[in-house]
Amino acid sequence: MSGKTPLIGLTRDEIAAALQSVDVPLHQIRMRLTQLWHWLYVRGVSSFDDMLNISDKLRKNLIEHFSITRPKIIAEQISNDGTRKWLLRFPSFGAENPVEIETVYIPGEERGTLCISSQVGCLLNCSFCYTGTQRLVRNLTAEEILTQLLIARDCLGDFPDINTPGVIVPRKRRKISNIVMMGMGEPLYNFDAVKKALLIASDREGLSLSRRRITLSTSGVVPEIFRVGKEIGVMLAISLHAVNDELRNTLVPLNKKYPLAELIKACRNYPGLSNARRITFEYVMLKDINDSIEDAQRLVTLLKGIPAKINLIPFNSWLGTSYQCSDWKQIECFADVINKAGYASPIRKPRGRDILAACGQLKSQSKQFKIGQLQDQKIGV
Ligand code: SAH
Ligand code: SF4
Repeated sequence: MSGKTPLIGLTRDEIAAALQSVDVPLHQIRMRLTQLWHWLYVRGVSSFDDMLNISDKLRKNLIEHFSITRPKIIAEQISNDGTRKWLLRFPSFGAENPVEIETVYIPGEERGTLCISSQVGCLLNCSFCYTGTQRLVRNLTAEEILTQLLIARDCLGDFPDINTPGVIVPRKRRKISNIVMMGMGEPLYNFDAVKKALLIASDREGLSLSRRRITLSTSGVVPEIFRVGKEIGVMLAISLHAVNDELRNTLVPLNKKYPLAELIKACRNYPGLSNARRITFEYVMLKDINDSIEDAQRLVTLLKGIPAKINLIPFNSWLGTSYQCSDWKQIECFADVINKAGYASPIRKPRGRDILAACGQLKSQSKQFKIGQLQDQKIGV
């Protein structure tokens, strides 16, 4: 590590304090802060030398004390359906080895979605999730969460050219229009860092992603759910996957701590909930486990009165799992029951399976998956 303070991921107040600490004159702080924020988040520069309206003297000062460099991209893979996956390496803290995480970009006709990780590994161990088989190594910092977005925008050419003059309207024609916190880890076990990163991602003078286009998915950390709506204001997704406690205890063991009744109550109290701001309920389709017509009917009853979308996710297989994906016909019958009850229930099309980029396939122990070897890790689905 360089020993320099990283600026990415700091709030405006923190950057102001950092500038003061290196003797930037008090009367200049506001202006410098605005300039820095613009370079970092509208232009996306990763070198102080590119900050053209900052004097040589200040630039030198900034270079000496702060860092804005991007971490290393260890591998980039592109699926035959256009999905991209980046394996990123972040520096170690203290004696710990560097950590590696994955970020996935899913292009669509009307939107481009970036799937961001919040932790290295996961503390929880949902039985159908590959990430859940890996121990939690550590939380990602706000910088590391946000950097996933910056790197993806670099690679996709989503930042304006450094020489583009004038005002830049950052919302239009972006490759990345949506973010989902659905990568590795449980975002609500890393609340503060996730909050900081998402507030910066949605800051109107910077990256400016609409909060309605940011979705945070949780396996059901009930005490933090209200705070997501109140303090971050993004869309909520709940990994439901079962409609009774007995089954949910085995699929999502966190259910033993926060059972369904409490989870559903927290959803009903979600700030800003309305027909225009629905909660997404994710439901992984597991053959002969949770995919019966009765399950679909119980699901409808369970969610009664909650403005909701139900997202049916065909199970993505991984080596060593004993689960199977439900038959397509069964998924359609299940969806039918939900549709007839008036809910939108899109079946999530699996994307990037050939590069192990689909839901629940991301990993952290990437040492054995370096470039070259990655291609050999295809699964037979
Ligand atoms: N930890 C958070 C977010 C990451 S997982 C959560 O659990 O919500 C993103 C979504 O993928 C969750 O709904 C998760 O349950 C689902 N998922 C995990 N493993 C999967 C698999 N093998 N196939 C399909 N979906 C999976
Ligand atoms: Fe963790 Fe989410 Fe996977 Fe469960 S589904 S193990 S909470 S990443």
